[in-house]
Amino acid sequence: MSYDQVDIPTQGAPIRLSDTSELDIPSNPIIPIIYGDGIGSDVGPAAQKVLTAAAEATGRSIAWMRIYAGESARNRYGENLPTDTVEAIRDHRVAIKGPLTTPVGAGFRSLNVALRQQLDLYANVRPTYHIDGVPSPVKDPSAMDMVTFRENTEDVYAGIEMEAGSQKAEQVRSFIESEMGYDETMHDGPIGIGIKPITEFGTKRLVRQAIEYALENDRDSITLVHKGNIMKFTEGAFRDWGYELAAEEYSEVTLTEDELYDEYDGEAPEDKLVIKDRIADNMLQQLLTRTSQYEVIATMNLNGDYMSDAAGAQIGGLGIAPGGNFGDGLCLAEPVHGSAPKYEGEDKVNPTAMILSGRIMFEYIGWNDAGELIRDAVEETISNGEVTYDLHRQIEGGDKLATSTYADAVVDKIHELA
Ligand code: NAD
Repeated sequence: MSYDQVDIPTQGAPIRLSDTSELDIPSNPIIPIIYGDGIGSDVGPAAQKVLTAAAEATGRSIAWMRIYAGESARNRYGENLPTDTVEAIRDHRVAIKGPLTTPVGAGFRSLNVALRQQLDLYANVRPTYHIDGVPSPVKDPSAMDMVTFRENTEDVYAGIEMEAGSQKAEQVRSFIESEMGYDETMHDGPIGIGIKPITEFGTKRLVRQAIEYALENDRDSITLVHKGNIMKFTEGAFRDWGYELAAEEYSEVTLTEDELYDEYDGEAPEDKLVIKDRIADNMLQQLLTRTSQYEVIATMNLNGDYMSDAAGAQIGGLGIAPGGNFGDGLCLAEPVHGSAPKYEGEDKVNPTAMILSGRIMFEYIGWNDAGELIRDAVEETISNGEVTYDLHRQIEGGDKLATSTYADAVVDKIHELA
């Protein structure tokens, strides 16, 4: 594959998918990286430095391939999302990106959504675990150790929306009222309409990924989160298809909550994964009151967005919340936070979220030792009171470091711990 719109590294070997759909990982993989807009120019290079150090400390190297999206792509190539950017990620299987700005207003679709859709990255995965020393608004942040699998391609985020006053919106209203017979449910006057598609296919592949993760990582339970009490044929269907998938493909290793109490008196055998479900609003309470009972969450796009931000706040907030988007044989890691344009170029914000997103990427390619090293180094640095401004203002004492100095401190810890 030849590219015109990327910085091709002179060394390294590509990650490839084998005939048996396994990833072949060389010890010097080529990994595409998008620094991103706004604070991406601060956190991108900082994370890159830390990830390089962790790879080298565990006997590997990374051949970074700079690729471009957002403002940097507009400046270089006159377009927001060059084809080569998408193709480089597809070809190299594993990549990392910083945040991309979505200007508010018509005619500009979210580049993040476009990337997820074009690459069919159908699961947005957000781990929320507490790092010692990180200030939190709750009494026991260490009770949270959860991974949210958020469906990434459907729901009201699918982009099927009709603006108030448009011909399409009026056509859909008239179809719904006269053809479908829902004639008293919508008020007269301008109306905006959004469509909420939830498919069996989309649900089952997401829940499958969540179950596989839970089994591989020795988790005890998985919770399907939905508003099926109100939205029976979308969110209720998600719940039903989730249970159906577990029964069809994982009946040997899973138990429903009813079976847990009827057959095992509430004590799950070690080799069984409990599948349960919760209504989304109740779940937001339970995250605070019964935190440790939730380990892996599988949910739809909108619920997942709310839920993972709320969970993220419990363990220290956006500056440290990592994420990853996964398709079949594809991983695009990215922090949960956005481009915070007002801090762009100030060398001020916290790069931990992007650094820990790199940990997710490393775990995806089996570099778990390098991932652990990153986590331990971040924990030691923060416990030492060496933090960026966002955490500094919440703790007593400590040193307020710039983005780049903090990254250097984490690299030093990597060298000490390796
Ligand atoms: P944001 O996450 O960029 O910033 C909100 C606030 O959170 C900031 O003002 C800052 O106080 C804090 N914050 C964020 N990241 C931080 C960090 N690393 N360290 C310390 N503090 C941090 O959210 P926003 O202001 O709603 O969005 C700004 C832009 O980012 C928008 O264009 C939005 O569309 C985009 N966005 C992109 C992504 C993505 O690329 N995946 C995600 C969310 C938002």
